[in-house]
Amino acid sequence: MTASYRLSDLSDTVAVLGAGFSVAAGLPPVSKLSQEFLNLNDNETRRVITANLRKFWRDVFGYEDGMAKPSFEDHFTLLDLAANVGHNIGPCYTPARLRALRRISIHRVFEILDLHFRESNQISTFLKKLVCGKSALVSLNWDTVVEAHLFRMAVDFSYGIGGRFLDNHEPRRDAFPLIKLHGSANWHYCDSCHTTLFGGQSDGKTTLTHKTFLEANDFRNVLNDGDKVAAELAKNSGTQCPVCRNQKTTARVATFSYAKAFDFFPYHASWDRALTQLRTARRWIFIGYSLPEADFAFKHLLKTAQLASKDPKDVHVIVKDLAESQVVVRYKQFFGCLLQHVSIKGFKDWVRQTLA
Ligand SMILES: [Zn+2]
Repeated sequence: MTASYRLSDLSDTVAVLGAGFSVAAGLPPVSKLSQEFLNLNDNETRRVITANLRKFWRDVFGYEDGMAKPSFEDHFTLLDLAANVGHNIGPCYTPARLRALRRISIHRVFEILDLHFRESNQISTFLKKLVCGKSALVSLNWDTVVEAHLFRMAVDFSYGIGGRFLDNHEPRRDAFPLIKLHGSANWHYCDSCHTTLFGGQSDGKTTLTHKTFLEANDFRNVLNDGDKVAAELAKNSGTQCPVCRNQKTTARVATFSYAKAFDFFPYHASWDRALTQLRTARRWIFIGYSLPEADFAFKHLLKTAQLASKDPKDVHVIVKDLAESQVVVRYKQFFGCLLQHVSIKGFKDWVRQTLA
């Protein structure tokens, strides 16, 4: 295991991206997301969302300002389990209310991610090498950091699943693979014709800008103090499906929880494609990914790919860590002697030292 080394190319490689990768583009790590969760209040919609999330944290986790914030895993596990089984949490939190809270929680995370984005030279350098090497990305992130850079570089990419862009063009089959296992902030879904629709970066067609996760009925009937927001949302005509002209496409993502909702068929295609890419690649590079226990399904996929491969993998881990602490230990426990290179100074430093 070496602290410093060089890679002349990134061919035959799958890079697995976690939230730490997007830190290079200014986005907060997962540990900071919850710190900002209740901070947005600068318009009526944000104020109402914040007030409802704050009340949920107070009622369920006993949270008051200044105290340690609940973990996102706990927050989303409660919401996902309730949404899946249709049970209350206490007398007041009905399934309908919990589903509404889940939707505004996802919208809030997308808001936080969007507010911080800036382009990164290190990400561009890394992607240029990866694209030239005919390699692939497997991302656990919802954000569209990679898409923004690939659009700017004029690189065609494909999510490896059926679907088309909202402007009705289809990704080329041989385009650079960007496989997203938890969904994406720019994925819309048509419940009428079952088409997954991808928003382009240049026209800002994310589910955040289209307010896809905000429903007028949630604000009118379920959430507190939401009448004005409901009236405003009712004017929103929705996002039209270019295939069947359904006026109101929706969206789904898998959250940070232990009860991720993968029973959504575009995910089956994503996960199958990820398995193929991981199985056939010689090198795996994990960037800014902490191998969290909540991602046990992905860990199972990794072991499946590893043990179904002809040759042993060359495993690299790039994380930001002051010492070889919990994250690196998790990788050592999981990969043992396959783990060849660990960089603990973070992605930007790794690009400068190893690729530039
Ligand atoms: Zn449709």
